[in-house]
Amino acid sequence: PSLFPALTDAPADAPAAGRPALRFGERSLTYAELAAAAGAVVGGVREARRAAVWATPTLETAVAVTAALLAGVTVVPLNPRSGEKELGHILSDSTPDLVLAAPGEKLPAPLDGLARLDVDPADRAPGDRPLPEDRGRDEDPALVVYTSGTTGPPKGAVIPRRAIASTLDALADAWQWTGDDVLVHGLPLFHVHGLVLGVLGPLRRGGSVRHLGRFSTEGVTRELSGGATMLFGVPTMYHRVAEALPTEPELVKALAGARLLVSGSAALPVHDHERIAAATGRRVVERYGMTETLMLCSSRWTPPDPRPSVRADGEARPGTVGVPLPGVELRLVEEDGTPVTAYDGETVGEIQVRGPNLFTAYLNRPDATADAFTSDGWFRTGDMAVRDADGYVRIVGRKATDLIKSGGYKIGAGEIENALLEHPGVREAAVTGEPDADLGERIVAWIVPADHRTPPALGELADHVARRLAPHKRPRVLHLLAALPRNDMGKIMKRALHDG
Ligand code: ATP
Ligand code: MG
Repeated sequence: PSLFPALTDAPADAPAAGRPALRFGERSLTYAELAAAAGAVVGGVREARRAAVWATPTLETAVAVTAALLAGVTVVPLNPRSGEKELGHILSDSTPDLVLAAPGEKLPAPLDGLARLDVDPADRAPGDRPLPEDRGRDEDPALVVYTSGTTGPPKGAVIPRRAIASTLDALADAWQWTGDDVLVHGLPLFHVHGLVLGVLGPLRRGGSVRHLGRFSTEGVTRELSGGATMLFGVPTMYHRVAEALPTEPELVKALAGARLLVSGSAALPVHDHERIAAATGRRVVERYGMTETLMLCSSRWTPPDPRPSVRADGEARPGTVGVPLPGVELRLVEEDGTPVTAYDGETVGEIQVRGPNLFTAYLNRPDATADAFTSDGWFRTGDMAVRDADGYVRIVGRKATDLIKSGGYKIGAGEIENALLEHPGVREAAVTGEPDADLGERIVAWIVPADHRTPPALGELADHVARRLAPHKRPRVLHLLAALPRNDMGKIMKRALHDG
């Protein structure tokens, strides 16, 4: 079966062929035009085993990836903002046969010597060419996506086509995502979020994408008030939205009218969720996933209740990532290997998963691949969570960086970060642990103050946290920063905090 029935199965003159598929800035393609543009690229990649794509946020990237997937070739998306060292590593690790790029795009030195195929979306004549056929098979490796590098050097996850199909169909089920949806997109195209969910998702449904190039609240307002139905973003974007709401009434109106707002890639701070809900009446739906597993959890979107007094906008609950998606098996496992059976919102375990949405291996890393799975075939996510009485998963943080063992307690960084963000003097917050002779570890708060001239004091923040959570969760050390170190997806790089 085709990954993109709207491209491969519809006759070129069918009404659906005239529907919009992609729009990046001023340039757009209908389904018929995309089929033709992708068809023009297929011949040039068909013989390759792997094709790198210079993944700028452009129409060219979307066409290149679609074409290579239709040709049954594995795509390696490259982050154009990678340094030469990282790029060199990714190229020697993934050994692509060629690189696809926009005409005229200047590629950096590590790509010298690699065959290049220019992708020109204008190189098309709808109807002149037969529709591209989808040559891929279910177990074929569709993508090699490098992880975000939040906790260590990026690893190349080999993602089969069946994982893409299964994750996108599970999301369609949870979110009632259809071909009528028009997605507003402002994310980069070299990770799962921006590429698989943001581009392949709408194309699989036969719907459309409008990419903002660069995220802006004005762009969100323009697109959502101009017919778009959904917005996918990372928490830093929703933070900007939350900050802008008091001064941008048009943004409030646009969000209030949207069908679905989704956040993922990192935890959405409860404070931002609540500010958006209070101003717009809409709850942002979180989803949790990884490069290796694609999407794991979300809450079901249910339409707002038509009675004005009841604002039942889905089942999204702040601070949770919802429940496992259809087809995903999820368990929590304690350090000694015992599965957590309690649904008590308290017992912390590592999230382990199985399902058709999983990757097959880390490229060239049999050691890391073997370590990532338990002997009975569950993937260890490295994320720690608790489950509420009704099965909602609440992520406590990453095992490696977010679990602080202090005074005999296991404390999750996330809830302390959420509490700190509710303090009016705090704009951004990260929490870590550092060795302490008495406590084992002590809690360290890294704060970007709302106003640098009058930053909050440690004692005040510690009392604020103690009042909201518990006395043993008070930060013992405070660092004031001008900005938190973040990667391309806006994720906080906690390693970089302690490295100075
Ligand atoms: P690396 O594996 O290279 O250190 P990374 O884990 O950040 O980087 P990704 O695969 O892009 O790379 O991110 C997956 C991780 O992002 C998850 O393991 C989880 O920690 C975090 N994450 C994703 N969505 C959410 C969410 N909704 N809430 C909390 N954390 C999330
Ligand atoms: Mg990871």
